[in-house]
Amino acid sequence: MLRLQKLTKTYRTGDKALNAVDLEIPKGQVLALIGPSGAGKSTLIRCVNRLVEPTSGKVHLGDGEEAVEITSMSSSRLRRARREMGMIFQEYALVERLTVMENVLSGRLGYVGFWRSFLRKYPQSDVDEAFRLLDRVGLLEMADKRADELSGGQRQRVGIARALIQNPKVLLVDEPTASLDPKTSRQIMRLICELCAERELAAIINIHDVALAQMFCQRIIGLQKGEIRFDGSPDDLGPDV
Ligand code: ADP
Ligand code: ADP
Repeated sequence: MLRLQKLTKTYRTGDKALNAVDLEIPKGQVLALIGPSGAGKSTLIRCVNRLVEPTSGKVHLGDGEEAVEITSMSSSRLRRARREMGMIFQEYALVERLTVMENVLSGRLGYVGFWRSFLRKYPQSDVDEAFRLLDRVGLLEMADKRADELSGGQRQRVGIARALIQNPKVLLVDEPTASLDPKTSRQIMRLICELCAERELAAIINIHDVALAQMFCQRIIGLQKGEIRFDGSPDDLGPDV
């Protein structure tokens, strides 16, 4: 579903954040990306949907004949392709003054330009889908609360619903639990992984907590200095990592 080919990023400062990374993720697979701070995890996730422009390499999205190549796309085609890639952030990136429902619906517009949700009347089908998703993530009774009234775990649930209302094929998840306590972190990881299984999503979860990665993800990629140093199942990962 997602295939990276020699993906490379050198920042203008000269930092080589990714060095020719090859990676293939089938439909339905949830992959944890681990590694020390500065290893290139955020850069990798952001290069996939070109929030960061890769220096070279390719990103193929989709399977077989339907596959498209992201790095060579024009900006209008990229906008469409990004709708197939849901993103979940460490700091949730909610619009604080909007309600839970409005934040979820803003996902229908894609990642950029959510300010337009103020101006837009949503079709009833979108509203129905938002209610279904809020029910699934356990926030149905919070729909009319403002985002700034929620706890961290509740905010991340909104972030998850907002990513899923795009009906993506792929989820890109950047440190989803870094601001949460251990119990909430486990609940959020369980929810993300269950939803990926239900919807057969391919997912990359950038996570520094190795124990959480081992608990919930089928495959673990260890990144160091921009290169893959480990690729295996949680059981293959030694206790000294
Ligand atoms: P991680 O997510 O694993 O902590 P990052 O992808 O954030 O790693 O960073 C990888 C490397 O790229 C680091 O050396 C970091 O300093 C550098 N880097 C990240 N973002 C930028 C940027 N915007 N400009 C320059 N260098 C950057
Ligand atoms: P994290 O490790 O949580 O990914 P970072 O500290 O790597 O966070 O990055 C925080 C922000 O600063 C990011 O937007 C990243 O792109 C940017 N950044 C990181 N390293 C550098 C750098 N060396 N020069 C410029 N910007 C950087």
